[in-house]
Amino acid sequence: MLRTFLPVTLLVAMLLCQTTQAAEKATVKIKVLILDGQNNHNWRSTTPVMKKTLESAGLFTVDVSTSPGGRDLSKWSPQFSKYGVIVSNYNGAPWSEKTQKAFVDYTKGGGGVVIIHAANNSFGSWKEYNEIIGLGGWGGRSEKSGPYVYFKDGKIVRDTSKGRGGSHGAQRPFQVIVRNSDHPVTKGMPAVWLHAKDELYDRLRGPAENMTVLATAYSEPKAGGRGEHEPMIFTVSYGKGRVFHTPMGHADYSMKCAGFQATLCRGAEWAATGKVTQEIPKDFPTANKVSTRK
Ligand code: ZN
Repeated sequence: MLRTFLPVTLLVAMLLCQTTQAAEKATVKIKVLILDGQNNHNWRSTTPVMKKTLESAGLFTVDVSTSPGGRDLSKWSPQFSKYGVIVSNYNGAPWSEKTQKAFVDYTKGGGGVVIIHAANNSFGSWKEYNEIIGLGGWGGRSEKSGPYVYFKDGKIVRDTSKGRGGSHGAQRPFQVIVRNSDHPVTKGMPAVWLHAKDELYDRLRGPAENMTVLATAYSEPKAGGRGEHEPMIFTVSYGKGRVFHTPMGHADYSMKCAGFQATLCRGAEWAATGKVTQEIPKDFPTANKVSTRK
């Protein structure tokens, strides 16, 4: 009697313990920190859209760290290491040396980073930041910053010709073309989807090392673009860190695109964990139909 009783008790205890662990695992959310406070774009209206989007996905908890205005950021020191992923919606004054070092150490050590639109305008002369983001625009960028990168004749071109970094045509809806559907972020996405009205960055340039282009968009000359297939969804690996970068997201109305929102959530999960567990939502845009959310 005793001989059978003990192992059964042990077995039940073990099962209960495993079930508890599984339940805990399922409820542990990825901690996201959005950075804003300075941007030539309306961060006051875009950060809340991203926060709500990430929270609605059910996988994330989201904090926001808002820098003070002005040039003196010595008292602002976001605690990167507490988070699984940092989303930058920041384009402004240089961070303090301490914050810069903390950001590089965080990323190199395996932290996740998400770069949105004008965050790639920041810090044109900060070497490590440019290595982390892969490509950027404005901020004094030129051929010294690295090549232009675009997709032509079925492959990625690194074009070292001289010229400014960063320009754009008129805002409009535009098609995003998936170039790599094996990556967790783009897996299952329609091959072509119509993004809501946004500003299509072209002529971005940078070190572009350890970079994987997942999707592009054509910068039509008739809309003021330079006429190449521009990287629109891409990743960079930096040390042990994973970086997800999208030049999309000019304004709140651009971010209300169901395609942008799904891409943001997938990119953030991938940057934090290397995996994507989310389904492609039913309201994802098609090749010829924009899909926006409230
Ligand atoms: Zn913009």
